[in-house]
Amino acid sequence: MFFYFNFMVEPIIQRDKYNPKGKISAIMVEPIINIKFKEDQMNSKIIDKMIGIVGEDWVVSSAKEVESYIKDETEEAIAPEPCYDCIVVKPRTTEEVSKIMKYANSEKITVVVRGGGTGCAGAVVPVKPSIILSTERMNQILEIDDNNMMVYCEAGVTLFDLEEEFKKHDSLFFPVHPGDEGAQVGGMIVQNAGGVRAVRHGVMRNHVKGLEIVLPTGEIIKTGGKLIKDNTGYDLTHLMIGSEGTLGIVTKAYLKLYPKSSNSGSLLISFDDKKSAIEVVPKILKKGITPLAIEYLERQFMEKSADDLGLKWPAEKGKVDLYFILDEKKQDDLYEVSEKIVEECEKNGAVDSLIAETYKEQRAILEIRSHGYPSVQSQVVDILDVCVPIGSINDYMDGIEMLSKKYNAYIPSFGHVGDGNIHNFIITEDGTKPENYEDLSEEIFKLAVGLGGTITAEHGVGKIRNSRLKLQYTDKHLDILRQIKKVFDPEDILNPETGITSL
Ligand SMILES: Cc1cc2nc3c(=O)[nH]c(=O)nc-3n(C[C@H](O)[C@H](O)[C@H](O)COP(=O)(O)OP(=O)(O)OC[C@H]3O[C@@H](n4cnc5c(N)ncnc54)[C@H](O)[C@@H]3O)c2cc1C
Repeated sequence: MFFYFNFMVEPIIQRDKYNPKGKISAIMVEPIINIKFKEDQMNSKIIDKMIGIVGEDWVVSSAKEVESYIKDETEEAIAPEPCYDCIVVKPRTTEEVSKIMKYANSEKITVVVRGGGTGCAGAVVPVKPSIILSTERMNQILEIDDNNMMVYCEAGVTLFDLEEEFKKHDSLFFPVHPGDEGAQVGGMIVQNAGGVRAVRHGVMRNHVKGLEIVLPTGEIIKTGGKLIKDNTGYDLTHLMIGSEGTLGIVTKAYLKLYPKSSNSGSLLISFDDKKSAIEVVPKILKKGITPLAIEYLERQFMEKSADDLGLKWPAEKGKVDLYFILDEKKQDDLYEVSEKIVEECEKNGAVDSLIAETYKEQRAILEIRSHGYPSVQSQVVDILDVCVPIGSINDYMDGIEMLSKKYNAYIPSFGHVGDGNIHNFIITEDGTKPENYEDLSEEIFKLAVGLGGTITAEHGVGKIRNSRLKLQYTDKHLDILRQIKKVFDPEDILNPETGITSL
């Protein structure tokens, strides 16, 4: 057995910051035609005010340019037509953000905060003409504090920038890595982003130690800091994490850093059936082996992706693969961990194991894995993002199989099996919603919640899961969340009709 373990491997998508994607094919929310904002005079008054705050170069108002700011990666979340009248404003400093919010609050103008626009739940998609507050210019890494193992940065720093910065650093790194490196720190915080490395490192919530926040009223507050312990009252840092841009605008953040491991590699292990592949995951974790990532990949799906790219999926035997990304301090540890994983998988019915030996092989696997979604994009009706306890994944997948038969639906799955978050794709030949889609997806969400799971693990509620919230929370629970929103945003101007407060 030969190993080639010299570099870090991750599913990576790098892309232009604001690359408009997809065409408008449906209207998700009814156009809301209220609108004094639409009157030219009002529009130009707001534009003048914004220019006064950030300068002429940083206000965008032409419908053509605005178009790329009113969508994210969510096919089904489409801004209604009047949203082409939105204004994009790009502040550079916290003080500018504060001035924008003070003005918007006093005039009751809706504001939608926009980070990298890589969200998968339509949270950045406006529902009416609004100020789109883009954090793209707030992109400075302010301090890397080696002793405290923290980075202090502005909210608009992209994941790509962060990764590049820590490539230069010999000993520290930031571990969270959702698949699109265009995501920004602020977006990752309020979405509580996860990604493949969550098996070992958890999600954003585990690493955010302090925040600077501009409230919807324009006031500025600071929470936490370079602290490991802080027990002073309600924890507003954690309230902001996962708030989907509805409670305030994150302008700066303290993030925890970790020592780098320099020996990385990957394993692809094949099974004849889903059950055996999924069953082995908790067995490996129980042995104290915590790979950086454990991904579940259905063969048919990966072969389609490989085909699309003109590549060949390297595994031939079996029908399902587990993809392990390993990252250890010493090369010997890497060998030992790999052998233990292969051994445990073989005991559990693995029919083949492949160690990606060359950089080319590893890149090919990653490329095919990352292309899974794009390869079926035009046929995707929905990408589900539920999470169930790791020990219940097989019950969940049995349920999915039963429902796909009941509804005659094709539901391939892949994703983060190491943390219970397998993504199920509902696919039709041409991507149109089948008549029974609502019933099917409702049954899937009920299945997940019934197993102690959640309707969304990392993509958030945004504009596409609102109607399902009641499956998971009681009326009282939802009421408390609504009250919290009111305290932060009494005029309901920030990201309205988004996430948890949309009911
Ligand atoms: C190919 C691909 C793979 C992905 N893989 C993963 C994955 O594995 N795991 C995962 O968790 N996610 C994944 N995502 C989703 C996405 O990358 C994350 O949700 C990310 O955290 C969004 O960050 P963003 O800056 O793009 O936020 P946006 O899409 O710009 O915004 C998302 C929400 O955050 C709010 N927001 C943005 N910045 C701020 C701020 N400074 N203050 C307050 N609110 C703000 C917005 O108003 C909106 O409500 C993936 C996306 C793509 C396209």
